[in-house]
Amino acid sequence: MLSQVQNVDMTIPSAAKRLAMQSQRVKNTKPEVDLRRHLHALGLRYRLHQQIVPGTKRRVDIVFQKPRIAVDVRGCFWHACSDHATHPRTNSEFWREKLYSNVSRDHDTFKRLTEAGWTLIVVWEHENPDTAARRIHELVIAETQRSRLRRLV
Ligand SMILES: [Zn+2]
Repeated sequence: MLSQVQNVDMTIPSAAKRLAMQSQRVKNTKPEVDLRRHLHALGLRYRLHQQIVPGTKRRVDIVFQKPRIAVDVRGCFWHACSDHATHPRTNSEFWREKLYSNVSRDHDTFKRLTEAGWTLIVVWEHENPDTAARRIHELVIAETQRSRLRRLV
């Protein structure tokens, strides 16, 4: 599951740093592509990698514009999932700071989006993509109906 991390020799700081830098910009990860395939199969249409977080240049993986629903697909390692977070012993200080800054950024993203009226759904790498897609589908349908009703009033 964490193969992208295990393949790297953590004893080489530059390799660790390069990998960490890359993680900022990783798009189309396997969990993300799997989830998208299930969303698509449910008939949902969405935009990818949109800069919708006010005051930042951050991109959100999957965006449903009208119902204002954003989906963030998070890797268990990079975003320190509470079930699978691991802390490499080599370069531990570097990794602690790195992972801490990722988690702080995630909290900040959540806050900014929520304040701007978005609903943020977090899908973890360890989740079943079919179950996650159904959860998103239900919410998109509910929010779309709600926004239609709002326009009628
Ligand atoms: Zn996990």
